[in-house]
Amino acid sequence: MSTVEQQLDDLKAEITSELPTDISVSSVKYEGPELVVYTRDPKKFAQQGDLIRKLASKLRKRITVRPDPSVLSRPDEAREQIMNVIPEEAGVTDLDFHADTGEVVIEAEKPGMVIGRHGSTLRDITKSVGWTPEVVRTPPIESSTVSNVRSFLKQERDERRDILEKVGRQIHREEMSDDEYVRITTLGCCREVGRASFILSTSETRILIDCGDKPGAEGEVPYLHAPEALGAGPQTIDAVVLTHAHLDHSALIPLLFKYGYDGPIYCTEPTRDLMGLLTLDYLDVAAKEGRAPPYESEQVREAIKHCIPLEYGDVTDIAPDVKLTFHNAGHILGSAVSHFHIGDGLYNVCFSGDIHYEDTRLFNGATNDFPRVETLVLESTYGGRNDYQTDQQDSEAKLKEVITETYERGGKVVIPAFAVGRSQEIMLVLEQAMRSGDIPEMPVHLDGMIWEATAIHTTYPEYLRDDLRDRIFHDDENPFLAEEFNHIDAGEEERQEVADGEPCIILSTSGMVTGGPIMSWLGHLGPDPDSTLVFVGYQAQGTLGRRIQNGWDEIPTSEVGAMGSSGNGRGTLSLNMNVETVDGFSGHADRAGLENFVKTMNPRPEKVLCVHGDERSTQDLSSALYHDYNMRTFAPKNLETFRFL
Ligand SMILES: [Zn+2]
Repeated sequence: MSTVEQQLDDLKAEITSELPTDISVSSVKYEGPELVVYTRDPKKFAQQGDLIRKLASKLRKRITVRPDPSVLSRPDEAREQIMNVIPEEAGVTDLDFHADTGEVVIEAEKPGMVIGRHGSTLRDITKSVGWTPEVVRTPPIESSTVSNVRSFLKQERDERRDILEKVGRQIHREEMSDDEYVRITTLGCCREVGRASFILSTSETRILIDCGDKPGAEGEVPYLHAPEALGAGPQTIDAVVLTHAHLDHSALIPLLFKYGYDGPIYCTEPTRDLMGLLTLDYLDVAAKEGRAPPYESEQVREAIKHCIPLEYGDVTDIAPDVKLTFHNAGHILGSAVSHFHIGDGLYNVCFSGDIHYEDTRLFNGATNDFPRVETLVLESTYGGRNDYQTDQQDSEAKLKEVITETYERGGKVVIPAFAVGRSQEIMLVLEQAMRSGDIPEMPVHLDGMIWEATAIHTTYPEYLRDDLRDRIFHDDENPFLAEEFNHIDAGEEERQEVADGEPCIILSTSGMVTGGPIMSWLGHLGPDPDSTLVFVGYQAQGTLGRRIQNGWDEIPTSEVGAMGSSGNGRGTLSLNMNVETVDGFSGHADRAGLENFVKTMNPRPEKVLCVHGDERSTQDLSSALYHDYNMRTFAPKNLETFRFL
């Protein structure tokens, strides 16, 4: 008998001994990090309100209870009873029964009403029908990504269970090594922005954190073939952890599956959906630009199939000697500060991912409160000594001023923006400014994936700032449903109409002007001296956005590929529109924010690796933290390995 089988047998005996004698356990299984307990008495289980919680804390495991398939009531009978239990205002839109696991997935407009106070309605459902309910939100704005991911996972349900069972066995395998060490190897994003990737290794386990591309430098990928990474074979990686969905962190995650990795990806649920959206678009853009994509859409599906979603605050076993906990990072939807607890109190490492320290319109500020942290790996995008951002209110004032001036000239405002994050932030600013009369009411056109990304935001309001979440819960106040917002969904013809029409605001991807519909808008409006191009986000070295910001006004049409027809015939496009930069909308903490994150961090780490910033930013931040807080700090290069224990 394998050790995992033995372990499960022991657990079954232990659980049985903890339960009242009239509740039986038919089997126990690992599914990913969870322990699944099958019982022939699900209704009695549900009557003992606190039982699952008590078992979980006794066994120090995440526990799910499911009915043994032999005792399930028929779905058509169960459906009627379930609908009687759930209040009508919950707005149930779908019930999906899975007899193989005894689960019923309930899709509802107001999931909170299906869950009930402390899960009381969920327990009532099980008490009444025996099935184990699982609740998901019906997106208030229809999202093809969310519905595609959900139906794909439903279709792949059997294979997914096999994957989870295999992952469960990996996590709970016997520890093999008596050595104790903790190392971090840098595979990218050191003294540069882009291609974020790290290996966290112990004597027992290797974990890959992020795997991104480098905007403006396709082909510069993380050093995945280093001996510490895939060099030893893709099967030697235990887990992949994705801090957030931006492509400089996620673009090459699907590539891992092409290289033969077939283990889990831990991320939040919105990160999974956004990664699907952004990586598929990444393939699309590569194809349009005639570049060979590094992988196919098949690998994106593989990646999604292998995602194990975790919520903020869930302490989760991801290897025999590693527990992972995600915390809000304040950067984009679902972004997570990732905390690793290694060994039994041996060592703690925290990867900030990208963070925003203060509250923004969209998110609460990053969490920096942990049980223990010895080493922090900290982003340094704005770590340079002069990288102070304009105060948010001043930024908003400047944006409104630029918009009003352009409007009065009869021009149009074009804002290149990341689909995810800054777009929604700007939408909130514009919605409020029009409501309060700070700027004239005018259409706001959303091009590229911005509309879809916005729909995903409204599907996961619990990841948004408290007051925004409350507004979305009350449909009539959902700011993203304001009538000014128009989704550009009819392509070039609609763009031409907008370009020829009345003053308006256009929000379009890509955020660094490296492709996508923004190229077409430059073609249409670039020659118009009344219009304004407004940068609201970071423009990386080597991108067209950075060059325009630096004063480039003759753009070779070869740069812009699919641009509109307004070139002057000599192979260049004259950029006559005004160019403005409004700082302060960044999803990244500025220098003060990064210092405050460390200064107020509880507990304060002993060592900090400053990464994810250019050479100057990482070195400036590293030396400032050393001087101010007397901690050991580093600005590593790529391919360095640090041993911490
Ligand atoms: Zn990011």
